[in-house]
Amino acid sequence: MHLETKCLHAGYTPKNGEPRVVPIVQSTTYVFDSTEHIAELFDMPTEFMYSRFANPTVDAVEKKITALEGGAAALCTSSGQAATMLSVLNLCHAGDHLVCSSTVYGGTFNLFAVRLREMGIGCTFVNQDDDEETLQKAFRPNTKALYGEILANPALAVLDIEKFARLAHRNGVPLIVDNTFATPVLCRPFEYGADIIVHSTSKYMDGHALQVGGVIVDSGGFDWSGGKFPQLTEPDESYHGVVYTRDFGRIAYIIKARMQLMRDFGCYPAANSAFLLNLGLETLPLRMERYCQNAQKVAEYLAVSGKVEQVSYPELAADKYHPLARKYLPQGTSGVIGAVIKGGSQKAMQFLNGLRLASKEVHVADIRTCVLHPASATHRQLTDEQLTAAGVNPGLIRFSVGLEHVEDILEDVEGSLRKL
Ligand code: PLP
Repeated sequence: MHLETKCLHAGYTPKNGEPRVVPIVQSTTYVFDSTEHIAELFDMPTEFMYSRFANPTVDAVEKKITALEGGAAALCTSSGQAATMLSVLNLCHAGDHLVCSSTVYGGTFNLFAVRLREMGIGCTFVNQDDDEETLQKAFRPNTKALYGEILANPALAVLDIEKFARLAHRNGVPLIVDNTFATPVLCRPFEYGADIIVHSTSKYMDGHALQVGGVIVDSGGFDWSGGKFPQLTEPDESYHGVVYTRDFGRIAYIIKARMQLMRDFGCYPAANSAFLLNLGLETLPLRMERYCQNAQKVAEYLAVSGKVEQVSYPELAADKYHPLARKYLPQGTSGVIGAVIKGGSQKAMQFLNGLRLASKEVHVADIRTCVLHPASATHRQLTDEQLTAAGVNPGLIRFSVGLEHVEDILEDVEGSLRKL
């Protein structure tokens, strides 16, 4: 099946007389004829037993996203943050370390730089554009993962996935890629060597600003047997001696995340949220195409407006990341544009306040055009030094182009720029 078809049909195939649309199974639990049956499920979780581990509505969405990314299995979470956290905690324990690109989303940066450090997990942030030799210096014997974002929020730096995959594999660790802004419509990181993908599904996948969510997808291709991951290859005493790689093969990583971390941290999404996410996924390819078309026109306009110092939109030929975008994102680079307004932070805020159609909100990748000033909002916890490393100039605005008619969006931009 092509991607458009998978978006409509993967994950749920109704049998004779069953509902056409994925049903919302609004139930915390499931009933069995015997306690022995429940005991068996704790050994081999092949059926639904409690909606903190799995739920039929969420399961349908997990299967759909697995198919879209071309992976082996997926686990939905109650937010993108939860997906990021579990993806790493499934590999790193106290005393371990990971390497991460410094341009990742501010929430990810803070999670790794502050919260995980408090838990004894170290993180070295690197400039993802450095050559392999320089990047290699960040790895240590206790490094357990390499992490990057395909289209960084908000710097819109494009990750060289193949370079990162080579580095990760040379060091015996998996590459985790946040594919939120590209979605599987614009990029499928597994095809370039990534091992694990995370998403904030709150963004384009949902697309309608309806619910916060996340997902982790495993390619099923990473070989965990190199000795670095005993938590996957040796008995888990907290789960009656299960050996994830032995007992679950290609889906070991996701089963461990589900039956161990999800059981203990409990950040599984509600069935109703998964139902809404599924609706968003059904139209994802159509929407991504139009976001890209609209954003291209807005980026071109901003670039020649005279009021903008710099436009970051990798689809533009002049953009530093254009060559990488051609390779990894040949169908477009989403609807998100970064623009540094001349005159710094104050002018940037003035420009945003002057917009009438675009909403000022803490969100991105919505069906409606929305804007944000990262330095004073999502990234305000970062120091000036960290802001620079994350590619966040004080005058930077994040312009998330929606699906309104592009002429209306351009008129709004033009009107506000004129007042500066
Ligand atoms: N990853 C990226 C690229 C994001 O932009 C965000 C949120 O903006 C997240 C992860 C975190 O996702 P959520 O807000 O769903 O927790």
